Amino acid sequence: MNFIHSIRTALILMLMYIGAGLWSIQLGSLNGGNLAVMWLASGIGLIIMIHMGRIAPYLVFLSSFAVNTPFYIGKAGLDAHAVLLIGLATALIDMSQSLIARNYYQQFAQSYPQENAIPATVLPRYWLQISLIPAAFTSPLLVLLQHHTGLMHHAGVLELGQSMLSLTLSDTAGILLLVPVYQSWLAKRLISTLKQAWLPLLGLTLFLLLALWLRALMILVLPIMLYIAVRYLQAGVGLALLLMSQLCVIGTAQGYGQFASGSTSWAFFNLQIFIFATMLTLQYLASMQLELKQRYQALEYEIALRTEALTEANGRLLEQATTDELTQVPNRREWQRRCAEAIVRSRRYKDPLSIIMLDIDHFKRINDEHGHLAGDLLLKCLSQRCSKNLREIDTFARWGGEEFVILLPETDEAHALIVAEKLRHAVGTEPILSEGQTPISITISLGVTSLSMIDLTLDDLLRRADEALYAAKSAGRNCAISYAQLRTHFLHADPDADPNPEA
Ligand code: GH3
Ligand code: MG
Ligand code: MG
Repeated sequence: MNFIHSIRTALILMLMYIGAGLWSIQLGSLNGGNLAVMWLASGIGLIIMIHMGRIAPYLVFLSSFAVNTPFYIGKAGLDAHAVLLIGLATALIDMSQSLIARNYYQQFAQSYPQENAIPATVLPRYWLQISLIPAAFTSPLLVLLQHHTGLMHHAGVLELGQSMLSLTLSDTAGILLLVPVYQSWLAKRLISTLKQAWLPLLGLTLFLLLALWLRALMILVLPIMLYIAVRYLQAGVGLALLLMSQLCVIGTAQGYGQFASGSTSWAFFNLQIFIFATMLTLQYLASMQLELKQRYQALEYEIALRTEALTEANGRLLEQATTDELTQVPNRREWQRRCAEAIVRSRRYKDPLSIIMLDIDHFKRINDEHGHLAGDLLLKCLSQRCSKNLREIDTFARWGGEEFVILLPETDEAHALIVAEKLRHAVGTEPILSEGQTPISITISLGVTSLSMIDLTLDDLLRRADEALYAAKSAGRNCAISYAQLRTHFLHADPDADPNPEA
């Protein structure tokens, strides 16, 4: 199965090589024969080398032989034997070029295994080594071969040199035009880019056709190409360059456009230089743009990560700033803040508001008898038990030490006293059992007061609650006293009166 698949791929690639070769020769020829102005087959040659492993050189050799040899038949009085020899020599030269190109390509693939990941700063060296150097080694040989066999005529050394340079640029262009497109295809970006960029590419085609007719417009093609490079990156620029180069070769060969002036060889040479320069510039730009984009994305990701961490840290900080570490109920500062808010609301809507101050009786003794750790755990359990016995809108907080405060919005003093009694029962009737500790029975004393018209600040409320709590302690502890009861008590001035008949 795998073998059949390989054979099929090999055949397709060979057909592509032959097709690209015939197409290139058809578009524009340097010698009226098989030396194309833009030899796309050199690009397919490198792609075969990358794709097909060990058999690749033979495939390139066969394909080159197949596409080139027919052009030698009947030329310059060559007999069948000579045609065969020149065909073989040409195939050998093309194969060597692809081998040199593959050698460089693999060196880069080792350092940059991901497609399109070659940094822009390294790109010029990469292009030089995979396209220009292999072409510069082998193209002069091909020109010399054709010169010696009489297939090509040169008036002097200068003309011979120009032919060599032209053919070098032709083979270089083949690789530089096709390999980036192939890489975009490997990275699965080619088809999607084609779908996205069809309109600019169509515009470019129309403009190029217009420029073939109105020569001066050619320079305006550059901004369109620039737009495609920045917007659609390597895949877009690869397609645009392929399109532009092919249209320019057809035009020039037919005598149209900016480059079709003077001798044909000079026209082609000018065109090749133009294509070579735009190719390097635009592909370099696209690669820089991609790098910029990737760096920007990496930066954005980094910022998002840091913002998340910061938000998390802020949340933690806020919790630490508002929560009592031991009991995990709101701390004094948070309670005061909520009180201030509740007082404003209570005044605005004329709702009642009460507070309770709570103190554990003889807590010092409990610490002494059971240890400080047991005392700590007891504070925790007490907080939980009290919180459970309160409404959701109430705020139970630790004032400090073994003292707690409770905010009761929308509750008048009589009802707050009922709540205080409920808490006293909840704590006093059942021993507090903290994890791993012996159950401890405790009692609490509570002072209750509510907001009145004359209160200026929260401190006024707190002072009254504290007075009521003090009275509860004085009355023998384990009781709840409201400030109203205290006042009645003082008004009657009966020192023996029981401030809390239930207790
Ligand atoms: P009273 O009934 O008059 O309130 O007596 P008391 O012993 O509870 O009051 P006092 O103010 O004399 O002592 C409070 C004790 O609470 C002193 C201290 O050892 C203890 N205490 C305060 N904060 C903590 C704490 O965070 N953990 C523990 N284990 N004990 C604490
Ligand atoms: Mg105390
Ligand atoms: Mg106490």
